[in-house]
Amino acid sequence: MSELPKRTWHYVQSPKIFEVSPCSCGNVDTEWSEYKDHLWCDKCQKDFVPEHHGLFDGPIMVKLCQLLGISFDRINLETGHYEQFDVETLEYKANLKNKDHE
Ligand SMILES: [Zn+2]
Repeated sequence: MSELPKRTWHYVQSPKIFEVSPCSCGNVDTEWSEYKDHLWCDKCQKDFVPEHHGLFDGPIMVKLCQLLGISFDRINLETGHYEQFDVETLEYKANLKNKDHE
């Protein structure tokens, strides 16, 4: 597992908010794994790749999401900064310009 690339950030809200698929054990209350593209299941104590990425699999209607209370704000794991997503400009309000845009 040590070969996997690590996340540099994760969303503030948990994976279930974005309807990312649950762990194979049925646990929907997962967390963002420290590894990229992975989630962490607290019950199984393991990192896993979700079957689908829910909201992220399709075009994202950010303004609709905002109405639904879904936020794309994120935590930068390198700096510890809270980065706020601006639904008008679709950019993060932080010193993100040189960070990975995936
Ligand atoms: Zn599990």
